[in-house]
Amino acid sequence: MKPQSTAMGDNMISMEEALRIIQANTARPRVQECSLEEATAKYLAEDIRAPEPSPRYTNSAMDGFAVRLEDIREAAPEAPAVLKIVGESRAGVPFSGSVQSGEAIRINTGAMLAKGCDTVVRVEDTEEAENETVRILTTKRHGQDVRHRGEEFGLNDPLLAQGTRIAAPQAALLAAVGIERLKVFAPPRIALAVTGSELAAPGVTIADHQIRDSNMIMLKSAVQEAGATLVSANRVDDDFRTTVEVVEQAAKTADIILCTGGVSVGRHDNVKEAAEANGFAPLFWRVLQKPGKPLYFARKGETLLFGLPGNPVSAFMCFTHYIRPLLGALSGRPFGWPTISAEATADIANSGKRAAMVRVRLKRDDDGVHHIHEVEQQGSHMLTSLCFADGYIILGPQQTLSAGERGKVYLFDFQKETT
Ligand code: AMP
Ligand code: MG
Repeated sequence: MKPQSTAMGDNMISMEEALRIIQANTARPRVQECSLEEATAKYLAEDIRAPEPSPRYTNSAMDGFAVRLEDIREAAPEAPAVLKIVGESRAGVPFSGSVQSGEAIRINTGAMLAKGCDTVVRVEDTEEAENETVRILTTKRHGQDVRHRGEEFGLNDPLLAQGTRIAAPQAALLAAVGIERLKVFAPPRIALAVTGSELAAPGVTIADHQIRDSNMIMLKSAVQEAGATLVSANRVDDDFRTTVEVVEQAAKTADIILCTGGVSVGRHDNVKEAAEANGFAPLFWRVLQKPGKPLYFARKGETLLFGLPGNPVSAFMCFTHYIRPLLGALSGRPFGWPTISAEATADIANSGKRAAMVRVRLKRDDDGVHHIHEVEQQGSHMLTSLCFADGYIILGPQQTLSAGERGKVYLFDFQKETT
């Protein structure tokens, strides 16, 4: 006989209360040092200041000739300044000498400016002439087409602030100033346990009474998109002992264990009991929401466990609304969602007794106003309700968002700015 979960009973909580409890149990983000190669899509845990100025040395912005302005002050197409070409500064091969009055050197974009010169004349404003001379056809401003050392930023100037996501431009900037190791927030480690004896893994011949497992790949993708690290993923039969073992193993490496299915009151639902058999203390079970009522949350030390409903839509909505912001907070971002204000095109009503997360599609008109369209089929077994939606609105019990009224849309795309 399996033991009874202590989370039994009638105490359903509101969505706000569930969020409050999750936030109250959110650990401070862990900091790790990593190489720049490993930093992509992670968030900086330190402020970065410039270890060197940029540019590091004064160089040319153009292909052309480096000159002394005093030599070309009067230059014009009908009266060119004729200078002797005494050498070349190429990218990677500087000119080692010093340019004297009446002299110029060939120079390439990015190549080091030579001693003595102060201005670059681009190729188009010159004509090469006989005996290694060049005719400069126009005069220039002092320092024209020269990139000066430190003109972008100086030594110790602030570059990237703590909390910045390392995407391609940030990685490039860090590489450009020679930073190879940095402190980032460690991505939370996630273990998945997808329960259900009816589940068929991908690639196997499916029997009539089986269900293809869609939660495993859905949550793997969601975890990956969130920038978290998957440490294990198991399909588990509806068997108490096996579920206990899987939770026990998962708790050894994971910060967060995500289970799906088996979290209701059915005789074969084992997740709550298996968690508690492993020493997890229940924090809530059942939230006054649709979809996703049988959401279970428990904690053991610093390890958190969620029992998500088995229905893929319910599981995803719970992930998006509760776990995605938690993963964000554990990676050093604010606990929150990307949202947008939009206008209802028709009444959207919640006639139920629980808050509803209604999946909606957004359309933008020519004036830039976003309009909300309710997705027609909202069943918690209907994955199209997610694929055909951009996000969801939350309506309280008996609440209607009337046509023309503005509402807050929570976006599925978490790459949008979190509000
Ligand atoms: P449960 O919460 O275990 O009672 O599951 C609720 C419903 O979701 C049942 O119809 C299950 O067959 C279905 N379900 C559970 N797990 C999955 C899964 N991994 N993939 C697809 N459907 C699932
Ligand atoms: Mg089940």
